[in-house]
Amino acid sequence: MALSMDSDRLHEECGVFGIYDFDGNDVASTIYYGLFALQHRGQESCGIAVSDTKGPKGKVISQKGMGLVNEVFTQESFEGMKGDIGVGHVRYSTAGASTRENAQPLVLNYVKGTLGLAHNGNLINANELREDLAYTGAIFQTTIDSEVIAYHIARERLNTHTVEDAVCRAAKKLKGAFSLVVMSPRKLIGARDPFGFKPLCIGKRENAYILASETCALETIGAEFVRDVLPGEVVTITPEGMKSDTSLCLPREQEARCIFEYIYFARPDSRIDGVSVYAARIRAGRFLAIDSPVEADLVVGVPESGNAAALGYAMESGIPYGNAFVKNGYVGRTFIKPKQSSRESSVRIKLNVLSDAVRGKRVIMIDDSIVRGTTSGRIVRMLRESGAAEVHVRISSPPFLWPCYFGTDIPEQKQLIACSRTVEEIRQVIGADTLGYLKIDRLSEMSEGLPICKGCFTGKYPMEPPAEDIRGDFER
Ligand code: SF4
Repeated sequence: MALSMDSDRLHEECGVFGIYDFDGNDVASTIYYGLFALQHRGQESCGIAVSDTKGPKGKVISQKGMGLVNEVFTQESFEGMKGDIGVGHVRYSTAGASTRENAQPLVLNYVKGTLGLAHNGNLINANELREDLAYTGAIFQTTIDSEVIAYHIARERLNTHTVEDAVCRAAKKLKGAFSLVVMSPRKLIGARDPFGFKPLCIGKRENAYILASETCALETIGAEFVRDVLPGEVVTITPEGMKSDTSLCLPREQEARCIFEYIYFARPDSRIDGVSVYAARIRAGRFLAIDSPVEADLVVGVPESGNAAALGYAMESGIPYGNAFVKNGYVGRTFIKPKQSSRESSVRIKLNVLSDAVRGKRVIMIDDSIVRGTTSGRIVRMLRESGAAEVHVRISSPPFLWPCYFGTDIPEQKQLIACSRTVEEIRQVIGADTLGYLKIDRLSEMSEGLPICKGCFTGKYPMEPPAEDIRGDFER
């Protein structure tokens, strides 16, 4: 459940989109619809940059701003945005302040032309890379690590024959999570870090090629799915065809996709690396029913990401599945949060209970995670106030115990409820009759055996984490 006004939820960092139309059609409006489909990945800012591959090299038209895609762009926005190649971005900040300057795509002019870049993920060596550049005279306009990537690509480009070689050489220096979409004057390039933390896929619509964070964006614009970009792969798209460089790829067992894409971030209608997000959530619900059974009358999901897991629990247990919540989806960035003292509650404004569905019933409520515990406690209370006889909470992920350095905004450890409490103590805090979490050893089955990252549950990360918490460091 993405409550942008509620700090008790996890946040994804970004969504990226890129397109090159070989027939020369303008692409700005297609990027808009692609970003609209990726809006769940970031609601703070967004942007589009386009260029004409037949026009003067280095002419890029871009627009970005704070807010949702349909708040930042209007019909008029597209009248001046002519171009057959372009990239787009939606952002939620985990490193770098939430300001207009930090919105993406980044557009960089340098001696070889212009680069447009959109990035999803967090680097763990961005500070070192930034220092390297700063000591050789670079002046930064933003506080985001994406600018560091763009500068490194530009610098490598001075010593390489092609821009894709520059992307590969820059990518070798990056440590951490990155799914990148890069636009040069005549090429569209996609790159994914060797662990494959964040998704990136390739689509095609007539004579246009597309790169997108999730397949739901391809379907929204009427494109067909071609394939996922491999972890560690750099793909280069030109009218002459698609080139692939796999020199950074790791042995498959070392890959480490962020399991939270399947649990919570991605849209259920997306497939990531061949695994349906919806089916993964159904499986998580089935595992919960097997491992944490309880007698009850109704299984409900906390929308949206709890719904599929609730359906899985119902299918496995034979307990009827139903709706218990009505969600108000019209909460934008400028929504005025109620004060702590006010009688309105942020949770209730966003989510209300269908009393008629739960009155007198023993309810199993499935949610994707418990972060600090405040939201879960409020929702349990709302169900009881609406007449639920019992509330049994099942969580479709294991307890959070560790921070994430790769682009997920997990609060510091002392704020994580599971860090200092047993499951029984958490049950008491949130006021549930029983509480059960997904077992860690179910995660691999959930993702059909794909190699995954479980760092936030185990503290064992696929790469050495930074000695200090570097998240948001550029602000200091
Ligand atoms: S630590 Fe957790 S949230 Fe971060 S990439 Fe790994 S699985 Fe995803």
